[in-house]
Amino acid sequence: MVCLLLASCAQRPLPVETYAQVRERVDRERYFNISAATRDLAENVGQLRRLRVKRSIYSSYLQPEAFLKQLRNHTPSPSVEQERIIRARRTAFGLPQPLEKSEQDRRGPLPDSLLGFYDQDGERIYVRTKFKLLRPDFDEMDLTVVHETAHALQHQHFGNDLFRTRPTDESLALRALIEGDATATTVAYAGWKLAAPTREAIEHTRGLALIPISETPDRDPDLPSREDTFVYLDGLRFAAELYRVGGFALLDKTMRSPPISTEQVLHPQKYLSGERPIEVPAPEAPTGYVRIESGTMGELGIGIVLSQCAKEDETGATDWGGDVFLLAESDRHDLILEWNTVWDSDDAALRFEKAIRHAASCWTSKAGASLSISPEFTIARDHNRVAVVRGMHDEEGQIQAQRLLKMPTMPNRRAASGQSR
Ligand SMILES: [Zn+2]
Repeated sequence: MVCLLLASCAQRPLPVETYAQVRERVDRERYFNISAATRDLAENVGQLRRLRVKRSIYSSYLQPEAFLKQLRNHTPSPSVEQERIIRARRTAFGLPQPLEKSEQDRRGPLPDSLLGFYDQDGERIYVRTKFKLLRPDFDEMDLTVVHETAHALQHQHFGNDLFRTRPTDESLALRALIEGDATATTVAYAGWKLAAPTREAIEHTRGLALIPISETPDRDPDLPSREDTFVYLDGLRFAAELYRVGGFALLDKTMRSPPISTEQVLHPQKYLSGERPIEVPAPEAPTGYVRIESGTMGELGIGIVLSQCAKEDETGATDWGGDVFLLAESDRHDLILEWNTVWDSDDAALRFEKAIRHAASCWTSKAGASLSISPEFTIARDHNRVAVVRGMHDEEGQIQAQRLLKMPTMPNRRAASGQSR
């Protein structure tokens, strides 16, 4: 979206920048510390984002192999057990499996879109070589360093807690805020270079990120996943909307009290009005089964599940109230899924019930690695609640579904008292 913005803005002469002067030398060297060159840039970014640069931000410019090594140190790949859980979850919800490791390796070490990252432990920005020229006076490297500088400023001002791991739906919401804020800062910088006022540049992006939730089963694996586009594009739309309402001051406040559901990011108004998820307790694993994982799918996750069978079904995820699922396995490694959902109204529950019945009819028993789940499912509704049980025979499925519908839920208590936490 940055390119779109640049294409639509008028040109004007650019200020002389020390940053550009070192580019030639940078291109010849295998490893080059560009901290000095990016110091001025960091000051500019800090001024635009209205966050003071408290500590020097170091940057390193690396060839792809060295960059990849740093990246692997920074984000270790999931353990065998974590991968097994992911495969089990995707199997249970009828989602396509991620590519096998070896397959990913054959596709090259790094996606082209990964140009840099900020390492909060070392407080250092890493950027890789190989950049596209966006315009004669701009390339991806400038914008990458700006984006990562915005992350460094987030870290300096809002602390380590911001980068703490959280449960899936909440973690996606937080990542959307972090990336949305950094991308909005990048847009502000691009606007500044083109003499566009910050407000105009950021507001220009609000309409760019409206994309459906769908993730089709046969999508091109080289394209970003719906979670990725959620984090960057819906994150940007969320940040831009907050900026419109209260400027960077409101974004700062939000950093201290981040959105806690993908629903709040998809509908910024729900975040602003303090609509919190309804808390649903996780069910215990039934006799004969051992818990693998429990978690929340949220509006985004549910939309993706529903879109597997028919694109239009994703609207079945709107007016989500809350949900929790339990994934468990028998000693023969047969999976079961128990999923308890609550909706804002009976109508919303009815819509979800219809959509999930349709999606479930497409579920197959295709096994993920050593795990398998039978396609049998039970769906039961009581007013604004819908329970889904998969992998259990008829009668047992009914018993478990009724048990889920009777579990007490906590109303979204803080709804009336506004956003403050
Ligand atoms: Zn980022």
